[in-house]
Amino acid sequence: MTELLYLQDAYLKDMQAVIVEVSKEVAFPQRWMIVLDKTIFYPRGGGQATDQGMLSADTWQGKVSQVLLKDGKIVHYVEADAPPPVGTVVKGTLDWNRRYLNMRLHSAGHVVDFALYLLGYSPNPLMPFKGEHEKKPVIYYQGAVEEDFREALEKKANELVSQDLPFSCRFVDYQELERETIYLQPGLPQNKPLRLLTLKGVGSVADGGTQVLNTAEVGRITILPLEKKEGMILVHYRIS
Ligand SMILES: [Zn+2]
Repeated sequence: MTELLYLQDAYLKDMQAVIVEVSKEVAFPQRWMIVLDKTIFYPRGGGQATDQGMLSADTWQGKVSQVLLKDGKIVHYVEADAPPPVGTVVKGTLDWNRRYLNMRLHSAGHVVDFALYLLGYSPNPLMPFKGEHEKKPVIYYQGAVEEDFREALEKKANELVSQDLPFSCRFVDYQELERETIYLQPGLPQNKPLRLLTLKGVGSVADGGTQVLNTAEVGRITILPLEKKEGMILVHYRIS
């Protein structure tokens, strides 16, 4: 199991790690799949984009173009000449500008979600369904609301930003997660520690991605016109 350094400290920009598996990607020449004993690279998932960056050793270096969770392993897809063997210590460096933007977009999604909770729309009548925090960030809510809450939501979300509230994360068991969260998405595993994300003074949700430390880092949030589609309301947002 790879140690997930990005969950312990989302602000780590480089690391030393040991190669535990290397294989060639059959379909792509010059692309390798590398598993490490620990990593700062966030694998695409939970609506957050993949990290990118570099891996290097003495005389070798490769570009990490994608990181994916595959069969329970975090696989770094690396464009390079043949990498050094298993057991080699490599240096990993994140494309930090990309990661920091992804973190801000992800945390912004939670600020919007907490704002909708404070306005009394979520989790009832609008149940959070999923979020995408990439180029065109959007949160999907199941349910219907007649009135247009776009303006009220934008105001409340930016209130939370201007209050500069801290985010914090810790691992808890399922029972505690159930007790502490304002809503719980279905299908979470009940037999392993899960991560609780708390926005101080507002509430907690289950979450596995990387977050900024406080709401001020998110920046100003713009809510785009609400979209209704197939029994859902889509809340599109941007940050600046
Ligand atoms: Zn999240």
